[in-house]
Parts: sequence; C-alpha cells; structure tokens
Amino acid sequence: MRNPEKVKKIVLLIWFLLVPAGLVLTYIAYPPHFHVSALEIFSYLFLACVVAAMPLVINNTPIFLLQWVSMAVLLRFGLFMEIVFVQVAVVVVLTKIRVPKEEFYRFPLNFSMFFIVSFLSGSIYYLLGGKTGEHILHGPLAIFLAVLYAVMNYAFNQIILSVIIYFKYNGKQSFFGMDFVWETVTTFITFPIGFVLYMLYAEVGILALFFVGLPFASLSIILSLYHSSQKVNIYLQKATEIGHQLAERVRIKEVMDLFIQKLMEMLPVDYAYILDVVDQKELKIIRHIEKGEVKPNTIPSLRKNEGISGIVWANRKAILYKMRKDWKNITSGYIPEDAESVLSVPIVRNNQVVGVLVLASRKKRAYEKSQLMIVDILCSHFAVAIENARHYEMTKENSERCSLTKLYNYRFFETMLTEEFTKLHLFERKLLSLIILDIDHFKAVNDTYGHQSGNEILIELANRLQEIAGDRGTVARYGGEEFVILLPDMEKDTAYELAEHIRQAIANRPFTLKEHLEEEKQMLLVRITASIGVATAPQDADDSLSLIRHADRALYVGAKRAGRNRVAEYVK
Ligand code: GH3
Ligand code: MG
Ligand code: MG
Repeated sequence: MRNPEKVKKIVLLIWFLLVPAGLVLTYIAYPPHFHVSALEIFSYLFLACVVAAMPLVINNTPIFLLQWVSMAVLLRFGLFMEIVFVQVAVVVVLTKIRVPKEEFYRFPLNFSMFFIVSFLSGSIYYLLGGKTGEHILHGPLAIFLAVLYAVMNYAFNQIILSVIIYFKYNGKQSFFGMDFVWETVTTFITFPIGFVLYMLYAEVGILALFFVGLPFASLSIILSLYHSSQKVNIYLQKATEIGHQLAERVRIKEVMDLFIQKLMEMLPVDYAYILDVVDQKELKIIRHIEKGEVKPNTIPSLRKNEGISGIVWANRKAILYKMRKDWKNITSGYIPEDAESVLSVPIVRNNQVVGVLVLASRKKRAYEKSQLMIVDILCSHFAVAIENARHYEMTKENSERCSLTKLYNYRFFETMLTEEFTKLHLFERKLLSLIILDIDHFKAVNDTYGHQSGNEILIELANRLQEIAGDRGTVARYGGEEFVILLPDMEKDTAYELAEHIRQAIANRPFTLKEHLEEEKQMLLVRITASIGVATAPQDADDSLSLIRHADRALYVGAKRAGRNRVAEYVK
C-alpha cells in the first residue's frame, strides 16, 4: 500500500459512515423478533463467542467457523441480531489473535466488511421472500432460500476478501491460496450444523446449543489438528530437501548462505546469528544477518551461560521466546532493541555442541513449537554440511600449498598458468609475464648453517616475495629454492623492474637465522643473493611450457652464467 496512514483513516471513515447508520436502517426495515427471553439471546451470544474464540489460523488469516451460528441466529432472531452477533464475534476473534497495535485498523475494517456481508445476504434473503422467526423452515422453498442465503453469505465474504487482498498486496498475492481452500471446505462442512441448530432449537430449546455445540467443538479441534499436522509434514519435507541441498555445497560460505537463505524463506526472520564454539571455551560469531543483509562479525565472543546463545550452549537445549519481555533480563548485548520473538537452537554434531543458531523477529509470537523442531533438524544437517565443507577446504588448501613456506605449490602454479594461457588465447588477457628466481649458491648456505637454517631463509624469502608482489601477481614455490611469480596483464618492462626490485630486496637486506648450528643462541644475519629470469607472453611464448622454459633460460644464461645476483630477460 502506498500510504498506510491514509488508508487507515479511510477505513475508519467508511466504518463511521456505514455501520451505525446501517444498523439503525436494518432495525427499522427488518425489526428483530424480540419475543424471546434474555437467557436465550445470551446463550446464543455465548455460543457465538466461544466459536469465534477458536479460529483456525491459516497463512496468517484467521478463519471463523461462525457462519453456521450466524445463520441459526438470522433464522431465529432476524437480520438485525445476526449483524450484532457477528460484530461482537469480530471483536472476540481479533482480540483472540492479538492484533498488534499498529494493525488496529483491522477492527473497523472487519466491522465494515462483515456488516456488508451480513446486510447484503440478509436483505437479498428477505427480498426473495425468505422469512425469519420460529418454525419457518417448512417446505422445499424455505429450505432452498436458507441454502441460498448460506451460499450468498459465503460468496460476498469471499468477494470482499479478494478485493481487500488485491489492494493490500497490489494484486501480487494469489487469492486462491491455502486459506481460500480451507475457508471453503470448512464453511461447507459447518453450514449444515446451522440448520440442525435451528431445527433442534425449535424442539428442545436451549439444550440444542449443547447438542450442537459439542460436536462442533470436536470438529473444529480435529480440523485444527489436521491442519497443524499437515503443516508439520510440509515443513519436514522441506527440511529433507534443504538437507540434500546443503550436502551438495562444498564451501563453508556457500553452506552458511544457503542455510540462512532457506531459514529466511521458511520463517519470519529479521535477525540471524550463527555462533561457533571455539575450543570449548567461547562462542564466536561467524555469520550475522540483519534484515537480509550480511553484517561484519564484530560482535565480541560469549562465554558459557552468557547471553541467550551462551545459555543454549550450556544447557544443550533449544529456547523459544514469544516476546521481548521474556528475555530482556538476559544480558545478551547483540540482539537489537526492536526484536521480540527469539528462537535459539544448539548445533550438535557427534553429541557435542559445535555452535548455536539464533533467529529473531520483530513480531511477537513469530515462531511455533513445531517450527523449533524443524529448525533443530535443519541444524543437524547444517552441522554435517559445515564439517564436510571445512574438511574439503582444508584438503584443498593442503593440496595447493607448500607446507614450509605456505606459498602455492608447483601443481597449483601449473594449473593457474594453463588457465591464464586460456584467457590469453580467448583475448580476455593481453599479456602474461613470468618471473623465475633461483637462490645463488644455496648449497653452500646449507653446508655452512645447516638444512634447518636454509629452511628459515626460504620462509623469510617467501614472505618478502609475497609482500613485494602484493595483489599484482601470484607467488609460488616452483622447486627447492626456486620461486615463480605469475603476473597477468603486466608489460615485460614492468616485470623486469619488479624483478630488479626483488633482487635488491634480497641482496641488500640480510636474512635472520634463529636456529643455527653454532651453540650460542644469538641471532645470526646471513646475506644471500638470487638470480632472476623474466619472460612475457605472447611476445616470448605461445604456450605455458615455452613461457617457463624461456624464463628459465633467461635465468641460467642471462643471470647465473653472467655472474649471478642479476636479472635477465628472455631474448630470442
Ligand atoms: P646456484 O643455483 O647458484 O647454481 O647454486 P645452488 O647451490 O643454489 O645450486 P642449485 O640451485 O642447483 O642447488 C639447490 C640446493 O638447494 C640444493 C639443496 O641443498 C638446496 N635445497 C633445495 N630444497 C631445499 C629445501 O627445501 N631446504 C633447504 N634447506 N635446502 C634446499
Ligand atoms: Mg636451483
Ligand atoms: Mg640455486
């Protein structure tokens, strides 16, 4: 809706102009049959209120099973009383489903809507010759008119509802949803009860209300049980599906994104947090979503029993809060002020709590017990999927990197080089430069200071290379003491300058050894140099193998043989 405040005012104005005047008019046009006792009227009113207090809520729409009572009231006491009864029932229903303050316009809206439905179907019933009062259901015509009234009442109700839904959702919401099906089915199941009530009332009086009221109450309980079991079934089915989808994701980030996305599709979620149990010591936030947006994980870690998630972790039990005042005394710190409902579930794997999920909504009573069970099931799928993704990422990381220097290894470099050449051939890249570096006389360094010290130098060199290259290229360990840097879209001259800069950064700054062979534990500074070769595709090579070969040739012929500690570029 474009301007909700304006719409609310219009709704109130319509009610003010329509309902009071309409009631007076009805009273004059169709005087009620008041030759009955107050006890009778109150008994009916009581029945109407009890029925109204048991609405089925389907897709947020309360479904009154009231039409049968209102029909019996119409036949017995006339249209005026029917209208009054239904208006009272509207108050009961809206109070029962606890309409929030900002939705109070639903009172005048429903008053007006039900007034129109009652007035139209009742008037047409009278116009067609329908009668109200005692003993009027004699003969097929009278019965036919009563049935017609029931159908009209239902039809007007649906027509007005569809108009409201159309305006409320700008025509984007389908009118023929689950609630429509339920409303139709339940209406036609319960209408005959109205006939029975009317007729039995003529025979046995007030007792009829109990004879009819009891089976109705059972029926409505069965219907609502059926509906909730159906809902749980649908949720379970969804949970299994989501479980399969989670299992297909191999990246931690993908698993978390999908998990949150699916939760938000299933439940009203304004805030979501995933917390990870780290070393059984603390809860660290690893995902933080507010109103659909991923926020940085800046929330400080929590300890056991600290905040809602700390309690869930400690007790290993899910928690469900219906409104803010139920949890506001728990110092949590991170759930925003405007949150009301909170659902928190431990994420358990191998009998250990490995994390905690917290969902919050700004609506009161946003989550049901049955949903908690479903979220619990989803969390176990999530725990397994995350574990698998962590394993996958670790294995992948290990297979791509050298364990000593943590640089990419030869295998990763080769794959990347092939990919870069494909891009070159597809003209997604113009240039591809390659720097190869080999430490000079490294054997001698090993011989003097030991293999372990040699390793320390390799680690420090790897760090220096990584730092200098930054995000301009990818550094990899090519072999023992040989390194490569792959530089996409870099001119040969620039690559040469970079190589020269690297050569100086090695030669001019000594390397620190902590564990050298000599006994005394003082730090030792060692100077080394390196020889470097540079080649660039496509000018020097058409494929990955020749690019390596040519850079290597520059290294050995141009740099090593020319006296080491220098940079050479490939020349044909
Ligand atoms: P130059 O390259 O200047 O010709 O002389 P070099 O002594 O460096 O000769 P070369 O490159 O052929 O020798 C490589 C040496 O590097 C051999 C080996 O002792 C050492 N090396 C290779 N891998 C490692 C390693 O992982 N750790 C240590 N500490 N040394 C290594
Ligand atoms: Mg070598
Ligand atoms: Mg060497």
